[in-house]
Amino acid sequence: MAFERAVVIGASVAGLLASAALAERFGRVTIVERDELPTEPEPRRGVPQGAQVHALLAIGIRSMNELVPGFVDDLVAAGAEPIDQGNDIPIYNPTGWIARGKSEAQVVAVRRPVLEHVLRSRVTALPNVEIIAGTATGLLATDDKRRVTGVALKRSATDELFADLVVDASGRASRSTRWVEDLGYPQVGERQLNIGIGYATAVVNLPEDALPDGVRGILGPPSPALPRGCAVMACGSGQYQLAALSMGGEEIPTEREAYLRYLESGPTPLVGQIARKAEFVTEPVNYKLAGTRRFLWEDLPRRPEAFIAVGDAVMGFNPIYGQGMSVAAAEALRLRRHLAGATSIDGLAEKVQTSFREVIDIVFGSVFPIDAAYPTAELVGLDPVDPAVLQAGQVLAEAATDDLEVANAMRAVTHLFTQEPLADPAIQEKIQAWAAEGRTVRNNDPAVIPAPLG
Ligand SMILES: Cc1cc2nc3c(=O)[nH]c(=O)nc-3n(C[C@H](O)[C@H](O)[C@H](O)COP(=O)(O)OP(=O)(O)OC[C@H]3O[C@@H](n4cnc5c(N)ncnc54)[C@H](O)[C@@H]3O)c2cc1C
Repeated sequence: MAFERAVVIGASVAGLLASAALAERFGRVTIVERDELPTEPEPRRGVPQGAQVHALLAIGIRSMNELVPGFVDDLVAAGAEPIDQGNDIPIYNPTGWIARGKSEAQVVAVRRPVLEHVLRSRVTALPNVEIIAGTATGLLATDDKRRVTGVALKRSATDELFADLVVDASGRASRSTRWVEDLGYPQVGERQLNIGIGYATAVVNLPEDALPDGVRGILGPPSPALPRGCAVMACGSGQYQLAALSMGGEEIPTEREAYLRYLESGPTPLVGQIARKAEFVTEPVNYKLAGTRRFLWEDLPRRPEAFIAVGDAVMGFNPIYGQGMSVAAAEALRLRRHLAGATSIDGLAEKVQTSFREVIDIVFGSVFPIDAAYPTAELVGLDPVDPAVLQAGQVLAEAATDDLEVANAMRAVTHLFTQEPLADPAIQEKIQAWAAEGRTVRNNDPAVIPAPLG
């Protein structure tokens, strides 16, 4: 092992994935977690979003499987269901249904607490990874503050934990920007896009014929025109999650009848109709958050050595696009790559933190124009969207209702975090032809799911 000890703050998805990467180069990885962790897969206090529907993007599942070999098999053994999202989960956008068909958007349907439980079991089975109880309250540093040397703890067996590297994976509630400032470093830049996002999720059983053949879920995302969304998604073990979504601050009712009516008023009536046939396993639980928040750790002109922030502590995304866990996985792979060749901790933090920019930029860039178009959107440190970008997005969305290749190129951005297929001249030609020929969308009846293409 190249290094002695790493300490990770937070034993949720980002902390566990980072720990899997760290375990390859550190003799000992200690995760500090403030929650008492459940022995069974169930929501917990420190991860209040755990009861809400969670989709895992294709790149997330691939990256997790790379970091924790055999992880997908373990999820499937725990009841998760492999799904081709492009084919099996039709999406009704305001422009119409995105073309269905075979795609690279291979995901697994699983409830969030099950995913976390399986991941935690696998990572803590590594001989050099441990989880200890405690709440991190600050960073320890050398006298000259050049280097972080550990974390200060409360509610733990020890007040101080020393390490060669500290990783903050404490999520949206992270205090580490303040802790680093307290050591005498400049303020970490911040960007926000606040809209007022609401969720209400219930786990249900459905009769066998509730969904059309080959369909494992239906998604009607909210839009500026109708800021209500609805979804039904397989979530493993033969069950489904219903989700009502709101953008713009509207309160989602959780009383059963009002909840069903809310779902019926979503972009496609199909989710509400299916929900009427459901047997509720859990009542709807709601959750609210302001929006997206990004800390520009990579731009810090001076930083302490041996400290890295990951996951939601760097950027908490608008969860409606299902990106957070996949970004955490992509970051953990970057951490692993930089650690692989490292002979010293010096300079590592800057390299790793900077390497996150590429993934965060592409992920945020793909949804920013959509979110910024909401009338309630409040931008902090961000420029308004160029109308030409919105127009290009509209043409792409329309062409993607009719052409599977265009739809799959669009899915590559959201599921694989790459613009490459979309930049392909053949795809660009199709999109331009759509605009030039003044074509109109055919698959736009919200009550009729189109058949798969190809
Ligand atoms: C409503 C909602 C729906 C979402 N849906 C999706 C989705 O569909 N797909 C997707 O990929 N992502 C989704 N996300 C995002 C996803 O939940 C997170 O990106 C993911 O959990 C990774 O976050 P994290 O590990 O960085 O932080 P968190 O999951 O927030 O975990 C932080 C951990 O740190 C611990 N902790 C906090 N402070 C301290 C401290 N001081 N000391 C010790 N421990 C501490 C907490 O107890 C917790 O265990 C959703 C989020 C929300 C809010």
